[in-house]
Amino acid sequence: MIRPRWWKFKKVKEYKKLKAQVEVGNAFHALISLQHFQRINVKVNDEIANKIAENSLLTKNQILFLSESIKQVHFYRRSHLPDWCHQCGSEIYNFSQLKCICGQEVFSNATSMSFVLIKR
Ligand SMILES: [Zn+2]
Repeated sequence: MIRPRWWKFKKVKEYKKLKAQVEVGNAFHALISLQHFQRINVKVNDEIANKIAENSLLTKNQILFLSESIKQVHFYRRSHLPDWCHQCGSEIYNFSQLKCICGQEVFSNATSMSFVLIKR
């Protein structure tokens, strides 16, 4: 069995710390939130910026700055399975689970994403 990448961490504490960090809002959540309000044509005010900044690495003022600086947010993510698993190299997956035979997710929400930002 090929073990997932996180097994390479020698200390369990490091893994737990990294895992906890994933749950904190970051640039992704900020940009996808700003895109949401642009799409529904709602201006980001103090109240909305506070909500976006909640449990986030970004502050309310940083959210407001981004909102005022960015004219458009375009979000792209991979729309097909990877040619091979980046963990083990296999081209055969457990397709119903969208995981490789080694257990690696091959179509998770958090992989192969890009943003294009158009400034004002
Ligand atoms: Zn694999």
